[in-house]
Amino acid sequence: MYSQSRRRKISGRQSEESSDDENYVPYIPVKQRKKAQFQNVEMRLGRAAALIKEEEEAIKQSTSEGSEISEREDEDNSGEEEETQGAGERSHISLLDQHSELKKKAEAKKETAREKLLKEEERILESVAEKTALMGVAELAKGIQYQEAIKTGWLPPRCIRELSETRHERLRKKMHILVEGEDLPPPIANFKEMKFPKAIISGLKKKGITKPTPIQIQGIPTVLLGRDMIGIAFTGSGKTLVFTLPIIMFCLEQEKRLPFIKGEGPYGLIICPSRELARQTHEIIQYYSQCLADDGFPLLHCGLCIGGVSVKEQLEVIKAGIHILVATTGRLMDMLNKKMVTLDVCRYLAMDEADRMIDMGFEEDVRTIFSYFKSQRQTLLFSATMPKKIQNFARSALVKPVTVNVGRAGAASLDVIQEVEYVKQEAKMMYLLECLQKTAPPVLIFAEKKQDVDSIHEYLLLKGVEAVAVHGGKDQEERTRSVDQFKHFKKDVLVATDVASKGLDFPDIQHVINYDMPEDIENYVHRIGRTGRCGKTGIATTFINKTVEESILLDLKHLLIEAKQNCPPFLAGMTSESEKYLDIGGEVGCSYCGGLGHRISDCPKLEALQTKQAQNIGRRDYLANNSADW
Ligand code: AMP
Repeated sequence: MYSQSRRRKISGRQSEESSDDENYVPYIPVKQRKKAQFQNVEMRLGRAAALIKEEEEAIKQSTSEGSEISEREDEDNSGEEEETQGAGERSHISLLDQHSELKKKAEAKKETAREKLLKEEERILESVAEKTALMGVAELAKGIQYQEAIKTGWLPPRCIRELSETRHERLRKKMHILVEGEDLPPPIANFKEMKFPKAIISGLKKKGITKPTPIQIQGIPTVLLGRDMIGIAFTGSGKTLVFTLPIIMFCLEQEKRLPFIKGEGPYGLIICPSRELARQTHEIIQYYSQCLADDGFPLLHCGLCIGGVSVKEQLEVIKAGIHILVATTGRLMDMLNKKMVTLDVCRYLAMDEADRMIDMGFEEDVRTIFSYFKSQRQTLLFSATMPKKIQNFARSALVKPVTVNVGRAGAASLDVIQEVEYVKQEAKMMYLLECLQKTAPPVLIFAEKKQDVDSIHEYLLLKGVEAVAVHGGKDQEERTRSVDQFKHFKKDVLVATDVASKGLDFPDIQHVINYDMPEDIENYVHRIGRTGRCGKTGIATTFINKTVEESILLDLKHLLIEAKQNCPPFLAGMTSESEKYLDIGGEVGCSYCGGLGHRISDCPKLEALQTKQAQNIGRRDYLANNSADW
């Protein structure tokens, strides 16, 4: 049913190099090239901002020229005779007409300013887009480009195939699903028609899952058909099942045709930005694999490849032969390097929370991982936020992709009531206790710094609150224990840094408290997305004060307005010069990070990235330290 004729080893062949003396280009060291590229981007960033100013000046000048002329005309009319030719001509046109003409001129200038700005922005975006394609080494060497999606044996049931495109459109509209791409797969509104075996359907039921969510309605048929996909869905929308259930079915089919032997696999690879998320995804796969095994299907083996756990243990599982591997980038890179794992037969790759991965500096790692693939694979990128930089990143990796979007990329879940409160720095801790009274537990508290997490944790314990804490400075055992205790309702409050904001599924969180505002708005969306999951309503309270940067507050203001939330007066009253350019060119906000309160030319994140890159020019190995996975 799901058969895919894609498990085969391919032999690598050296590419034939042709040397062409005529086309000889002198070698420029990488270090110098990067530096030049960086300076280019910096210049453009500066130029775009300068352009706005320049054009504004020009507009101002032209309007003031206009008013001067009108003033002079007034003087003419009041009887003072000035015999200049210009004044003579103007005297034939009424003041009203002159005024509207000047206004038109000013508008036209403004238009060109916008066009110029848009062009400049496009250039900035282009210059930050990666030039290296996400491809396997052999593909790059031989210049292979895949034109068609992978073929699978899955077909939608006839009752769905016979329905018209208009019906599909109606269903998508009803479920607020936006899709883009060629030959769109049909949406399917129940699991049975997706042809999942009974064991899976009853396994889903046991978890309280009876009907697919919008991302599943469109996403699962897309993946089952073998199509590459970009899935944009707010956290808690059920996106994990979109990539786990189909891979389980593909592996089952493979195993039935030709059982996996020692050392073989993985056939499917899932990459996550944090160990906790990887562990959670691994558990989900094991649960459904067991459901199938209990019903007489072969048992699928799923490996977990994450930092903080002994390599030896992981290697034992991998060596026995695995169908699916769930990994974080650091450990996976290490194992690939040492040839402990190969991707020779891997034909399915899913990246969860892809935007987080890029943000955390794993972009280069992801490129390296791609280079280990030996032939075409089905690639899926999932994320709650999907700014243009990720879409650029995706373009070179995906073949005829289908983009499934439920809600604006980067938009906050509408099931969260967002409250923003002004709390002085020194009053935060005390106010936290009061804030905890807003709802029943479980409550999740986020803070940016590890030290703050420790202080809050200590304070809450002193006040008798059943709290646990998680951050990257704690050892893996403690991290796992705390998350488990909180997940199973043994503790009421979890205090955490952003490690807990990335895709982790804590059931029934009532309240998310942001002890501080995260540095970028995407993180804010991830944090508050821990509550209000799967149709339930949650509350998110965010403390802000004058220590928070203006640009992030503006992003927050526009996000609140978009989600039709209460915008407190101190936020509503904030304005910035660049706000008037926010919705030009049909693109709202920043095309780099997705923030609604600024344009790419003022993007603090891009600026930070450029600075980081500049600092790292010549320090090739800087990512190695980052690869601790979170
Ligand atoms: P995710 O967005 O994949 O992290 O999923 C969030 C939560 O939603 C998990 O607890 C899932 O078990 C649950 N879930 C996933 N799909 C559905 C569904 N179709 N109906 C109800 N709950 C679901």
